[in-house]
Amino acid sequence: MTLRIGVDVGGTKILAVSVDGDGNEIARLRRPTGWGGDAVADGVAAVVADLAGAESVVAVGVGVPGQILPGSGVVEHALNLGIDRYDLAGAVAARIGIRPVIDNDVRFAAVGARALRAGGGSLAFLNLGTGIAAGIVDETGPRRGGRGAAGEVGHIPIDPNGPRCRCGQRGCIEAFAGGGAVAERWGGSSPLPVLAVFDAADAGDERADGIRADVVRGVEAAVRLLVLTTDVDVVVLGGGVAALSDRLLVPVRAALAASAGASPFLRSLRLDERVELAPRDVPVGALGAAVQAQASGSRCSVLSGASGNAAASGAVSQRASAISAAALTDAGSSVIANASATTRKPGSFAASDSNRPR
Ligand SMILES: [Zn+2]
Repeated sequence: MTLRIGVDVGGTKILAVSVDGDGNEIARLRRPTGWGGDAVADGVAAVVADLAGAESVVAVGVGVPGQILPGSGVVEHALNLGIDRYDLAGAVAARIGIRPVIDNDVRFAAVGARALRAGGGSLAFLNLGTGIAAGIVDETGPRRGGRGAAGEVGHIPIDPNGPRCRCGQRGCIEAFAGGGAVAERWGGSSPLPVLAVFDAADAGDERADGIRADVVRGVEAAVRLLVLTTDVDVVVLGGGVAALSDRLLVPVRAALAASAGASPFLRSLRLDERVELAPRDVPVGALGAAVQAQASGSRCSVLSGASGNAAASGAVSQRASAISAAALTDAGSSVIANASATTRKPGSFAASDSNRPR
């Protein structure tokens, strides 16, 4: 069997899945994220080796919460990973002999969420974490835009008198509904500030009720913007805040329905019926990385029978050296060049810490 491996590098953990040629999940694993570029590359190499086992790996995708220099595989400003600027694609290729496709994690999550939907269609993955950003994908692949900023809906202002946003504007969607902004407004030390706010609001706290209303308002605005600008079939709510599940989804749908009440045009778009929650039992970011890596042409069949022991980093890197050497033979190098040339231009996307769930 030949495998595609997708890796989702988060601030605290690396999630990885292997899928077969039809996109069916074969296995998944997680390990803690190391600090700094080399440690992240080591972790990615280790999970790939572990998932590869004795099988051949033909494509690897790696999603990261940071900006990607277009077409380069170079990660910038991934503050949660301890990376200021690092050639992650090059570092991983040196370790495993496959040049991975690197992209923003939210964009890969959109690809993964779409892969899980029967019939495909178009989709926006609205990541509700510390910050807010969306990945937009259709049958042609994920949308990046000229500068990689497609989907940065978190920094669209919806109220000129709203709270100041960390981006410098006032009243951004993220300033209302981002986990970081909510934590600042609510105070306290809860590791899950939005959950704490919702719990307090349920218990009758008026201040919490106001903040909760702003969260719903921000998410509702983001959904409306995404549908009106891209006409995606569905907006999928993901990220840490989306773990509130129906406690968030139900009021957001109600707000969408209410805002469309006076507008036959908006009603015809059925916004409230086009928003849903991301599946909680599937690592959509890692899945999307695997799917997109294959679609983007990260093909190299030189990795097989890897050590299968992520802890044996010495063995892995020793093997990786051998694999790297093999990859530089005529056939291997052409494959690697192909992978590099056909990688869709990754671009900067969300601000570095905007995707971390709170
Ligand atoms: Zn902003």
